[in-house]
Amino acid sequence: MNPTQQLLRKLPGIDRLLDCPALTELGESFPHDVLAKAARQAVERLRAEILESAEDFDASRLDLGQLASEAAKCAQNLMRPNLRPVINATGTLLHTNLGRAPLAETALQAIAESARMYSNLELDLESGKRGLRHDLVADLLCQLTGAEAAMAVNNNAGAVYLALTALAQGREGIVSRGELVEIGGAFRIPDVMAASGVRLVEVGTTNKTHPRDYLNAITEETGLFLKVHTSNFRVVGFTSQVSGAELVEIARPHGIAVMEDLGSGMLFDLSEYGLPREPTVAEAVAAGIDVVTFSGDKLLGGPQAGIIVGKRELIEKIRSHPMARALRMDKLTLASLEATLRLYLDRERALREVPVLRMLATPAEELEQRCLKLARQAMDQIGGDAHIEVIAAPSTVGGGALPTTELPGFAIAVTPREQSVDALARRLRHGQPAVVARVQDDRLLFNLRTLATDQENDLVTALKTALESTHEPD
Ligand SMILES: *Cc1c(COP(=O)(O)O)cnc(C)c1O
Repeated sequence: MNPTQQLLRKLPGIDRLLDCPALTELGESFPHDVLAKAARQAVERLRAEILESAEDFDASRLDLGQLASEAAKCAQNLMRPNLRPVINATGTLLHTNLGRAPLAETALQAIAESARMYSNLELDLESGKRGLRHDLVADLLCQLTGAEAAMAVNNNAGAVYLALTALAQGREGIVSRGELVEIGGAFRIPDVMAASGVRLVEVGTTNKTHPRDYLNAITEETGLFLKVHTSNFRVVGFTSQVSGAELVEIARPHGIAVMEDLGSGMLFDLSEYGLPREPTVAEAVAAGIDVVTFSGDKLLGGPQAGIIVGKRELIEKIRSHPMARALRMDKLTLASLEATLRLYLDRERALREVPVLRMLATPAEELEQRCLKLARQAMDQIGGDAHIEVIAAPSTVGGGALPTTELPGFAIAVTPREQSVDALARRLRHGQPAVVARVQDDRLLFNLRTLATDQENDLVTALKTALESTHEPD
């Protein structure tokens, strides 16, 4: 018998492994099938190693107890949720990959309450008759934006698609060439228009579009003007786009509707916190735009949603389109959207309690103090395993909203001594909780703007664990 066969014969059977304490202990909370699968995985891993090279194989790995604890680890991994909390230390406030906006406490409570019990989702408690789920947020949205009517759907991509379909299917939609953007890889204005059955009529050029371009493009077939926030892209130099108010002026005599996709959609001006001066939703409404759409989970800081506000007659048309049903929001999201919007009734309260706004408004000096304090704490706990310092590092808004906008801030820069920066980043991503940080110039940067203060200790613990670990992360 060759060495490979000898080793393979020593691999334990699954049943023997399942009888080991490390696995029987888990039997209470883990289904048998999961434990059996984990035991097979652990044995298979050894088998593969033996087949690869019997000479290099460390025979102590065959120890039954050790193999059982490896199998137990496999079982833990199998039972771990796929969607897990992540500490976002990237400094990017709105990261689509990281689930965009964390929600306010009151929004979380609203989700829990509407989930635990039945609700008046579509019941008018006054009359006892059927109600409309849209009405749950319509009044708040009207109050906050000054619009006549409002509704919300699954996300902003859905809102744009639905509004285009309901308002201009089979007709022409006029869009400036400077606004034919792609957002987040899959949302491309020309494609969304095609999917809605609206014939795209491009006007102007990439950098300049003039009022006369729109005027000259109007035909019998014109269904609407669409204005799009370019979000993740900026043309600099000699540029001009036609403002919403000007578009309204051109469109009105012809009875053409003007729609604007604001993307992020700010409910109040955030320029005093370092963001560019952008038209708020209320300003777009006041400019006379007939239908305005924006996301719920970008700068608004709420759950994933697509909000549509505007003229009553048009919102009614959108609401009664058959596709509205396919894009409707579920009750949990509606509950958290309503709670988030309610915070906006008091601007100061929104700034305190909506996490995205709170993070955005944190002054750089405060972030520096937090970084210095945490860096000291980390040095005390970590000792010589890494070089740690505090550096100036900007944070970004991100999320297809204002990704080119940087906010001044600070970060803790960590240079590990015993492992590569990439290995450390990988270990941190595999930790519990996972930590995502930014690799830059052979250092790992932990930006505290996107961390709640109660996550700071967890960050240090995670860093310590990852620096001390010598195992490959599983
Ligand atoms: C982000 C964005 C969208 C897509 O919104 P989702 O909420 O991701 O569906 C559409 N239009 C613009 C201008 C955007 O910035």
